[in-house]
Amino acid sequence: MIYDVIVIGAGLMGSAAARHLAEDGARVALIGPAEPALKSDHDGVFASHYDAARITRKIDRRQNWGRFSQAAIGRYAQLEEQSGQSFFAPVGAIIAGPEAGAGSDFIQTAQQNALADGVKHDALRGDALRARFPYFDFPGGILALYEAEEAGWIDPRAHVEAEMLLAARAGAVVHRTEVTRLIESAQAVQAHCADGQVIAGAKAIVACGAFSKAEGLLPAPLPLKVYGRTIAFFELDEAEAARLRDMPSVVYITPNLVTDPYILPPVRYPNGKTYIKIGGDPVDHELQSVAEMKDWFRTDGDPEVGAFLADFLTGLMPDLSFKAVTTGSCATCFTPHGNPLIYHQTDRLMALTAGNGAGAKCADELGRLGALVASGGMIPSDIYSGAFDA
Ligand SMILES: Cc1cc2nc3c(=O)[nH]c(=O)nc-3n(C[C@H](O)[C@H](O)[C@H](O)COP(=O)(O)OP(=O)(O)OC[C@H]3O[C@@H](n4cnc5c(N)ncnc54)[C@H](O)[C@@H]3O)c2cc1C
Repeated sequence: MIYDVIVIGAGLMGSAAARHLAEDGARVALIGPAEPALKSDHDGVFASHYDAARITRKIDRRQNWGRFSQAAIGRYAQLEEQSGQSFFAPVGAIIAGPEAGAGSDFIQTAQQNALADGVKHDALRGDALRARFPYFDFPGGILALYEAEEAGWIDPRAHVEAEMLLAARAGAVVHRTEVTRLIESAQAVQAHCADGQVIAGAKAIVACGAFSKAEGLLPAPLPLKVYGRTIAFFELDEAEAARLRDMPSVVYITPNLVTDPYILPPVRYPNGKTYIKIGGDPVDHELQSVAEMKDWFRTDGDPEVGAFLADFLTGLMPDLSFKAVTTGSCATCFTPHGNPLIYHQTDRLMALTAGNGAGAKCADELGRLGALVASGGMIPSDIYSGAFDA
């Protein structure tokens, strides 16, 4: 049998694309492995969504990303209800940065975009900011845009589950295996899989996150820079988690511009422990090859970056009480134009990747756009601007 579309990569974007295609009536196969039980001895591919929380918000300095998120967030409730999977914690989010001087374009542009798109928010500074969020010690001159509603964090694993469940309900067939090679012929694209299967589709969408660069998948190189990222997890006891129960997610450009950390409020992880998470590497650490990516994912990140992030968080939250700090690794992939890659390389083969560090919250919209382009449609230029190809 030849499917209408085979989607390679059962991650955030791939699962969403498979759902949209299947619900639009296409015959779809979604091919991708499940999360490995143990990262440290895993030989296969990894994903950037193996975590319990990703920030979600509608305000963004980059208008396209704000709009991807506005569209996706608008469908969260429906996705949760139809799938029975709860993945959204609407605890609110702030985006903060210097209001004047160096680096102020970040928050100024974010606010202009919020106003242009009618995104509800409170602009907080000085005493008002301190009174609303007494546990943060922001320096003077910071403007924080607070989205109290329809922002917070999502559980990316549960989001993928929700999309996959609905894709399967609409007829998509899920194959839990890696694709080792794609071969295009005049009739179809064949996906040769690690478990020996060959699955054919009239079209194939490569949605393998950072691993979309792997040899044998797409015929032309992707303009994708992959960076290894370190995250620090602060373990909290029940009392501290309760004290911080109304803490929002935070994205922050610091006045000295040394770093742009993001912070997740207390989230209970599958191991039963509750963590505040911080990320934001001060220096980019590029991963050149698939072998380097796999090596990186098998680690717990860079301890020096972990120490830097820990220092930063205890500076911003001086009263924070925690039991332990641990670190983890992940990878993000960026394009030179800052947009995701959603384009055909040949008539049958297309790319759907490049979250630019922001692809979790809006994955359902990126998946919808991927499905649209695979079906011969165009990304609407009255909503989204710029290039989505190489
Ligand atoms: C530390 C960190 C923090 C982040 N924080 C945020 C945040 O707060 N908010 C936000 O919106 N975004 C955030 N992101 C970004 C977000 O997680 C990514 O943009 C998102 O995961 C990208 O989705 P994706 O589907 O492209 O890739 P992935 O989620 O990586 O999924 C790719 C899938 O492809 C599969 N795959 C790979 N190779 C193959 C193959 N050969 N055959 C079959 N399957 C294959 C993998 O198994 C995986 O399931 C963060 C990323 C990191 C690393």
